[in-house]
Amino acid sequence: MTRIIDGKQQANRLREVIGQETLGLQERHGIRPGLAVVMVGNDPASQVYVRNKARQAGEAGIASFEHRLEANVSQQALLALIATLNADPAVHGILVQLPLPASLSEAAVIQAIAPDKDVDGFHPINIGNLATGARAMVPCTPLGCLMLLRQQLGELAGKRALVLGRSNIVGKPMANLLLRDSCTVTVAHSRTHGLAEECRRADILVAAVGRPGLVTGDWIKPGATIIDVGINRIEEQGRSRLAGDVDFTSASQVAGAITPVPGGVGPMTIACLLLNTLQATCHQHRLPFAE
Ligand code: NDP
Repeated sequence: MTRIIDGKQQANRLREVIGQETLGLQERHGIRPGLAVVMVGNDPASQVYVRNKARQAGEAGIASFEHRLEANVSQQALLALIATLNADPAVHGILVQLPLPASLSEAAVIQAIAPDKDVDGFHPINIGNLATGARAMVPCTPLGCLMLLRQQLGELAGKRALVLGRSNIVGKPMANLLLRDSCTVTVAHSRTHGLAEECRRADILVAAVGRPGLVTGDWIKPGATIIDVGINRIEEQGRSRLAGDVDFTSASQVAGAITPVPGGVGPMTIACLLLNTLQATCHQHRLPFAE
């Protein structure tokens, strides 16, 4: 029978552990982890994300500092704010909500964040460290996917994994994480030939393409574990709903285990942001951190 991987439940459990660790840090060392969230402009979806991040940080005992800037803020002013946050000892993690308005350079902003405080794991130094197997801040969404996979499958070594999508924030770091866990990894994208056959070979399939229902049951190896990262808003019979990149109805007839959308990868992403903030705090204070 197909198992539905409950990301919400796992994220709740992870946040509880983070809350306990945070409390311990305060009691034993007088340290409170701090997360600064910078938002430029007033994109409604970004506002919801930022609000959720701040609320969940607070619930886990992490101090959150919100910085809202006008959409027409200059690059210089934004970089000056990041420099201030880099130097602030109460701030252990810095997150700049993306996308930024077109007038600002995302690359320059990401590179301005101190790598030790880069809780999104997007800084080239963290990307390089992840790729070479060194200690790194790992992007939250792929980290959450890896945790769901380890929880579901235990040992991942030797499994054949297919990552569908090669973005810098999901596909590429996901592939590196699976490689680090000794999977045999294939990365597929819009130019891949024979996509369905590639998918059918995979014991683990991570779909991060942004195409609702692209992966159907006949693309899936019987018993495979399916992680659906896609979050797509679709209109159906006059109603709007969220859909993943995997067609859940047909895929769940074939898969061994599958994440639903919503309630799968999404909740793990924010929990991993809090985990990264805790990790960054421990690292900056030279305290041990158990992954
Ligand atoms: P991007 O648009 O940056 O990347 C999409 C990738 O999918 C690209 O590599 C692209 O290939 C590939 N692709 C697109 N269409 C096809 C196709 N028909 N066949 C094969 N490959 C295809 O997306 P993101 O990685 O940022 O996000 C992917 C999805 O995950 C989105 O739905 C997004 O909303 C969701 N998401 C969810 C998160 C969560 O917390 N659950 C967090 C982040 C994202 P190519 O490179 O050749 O163009």
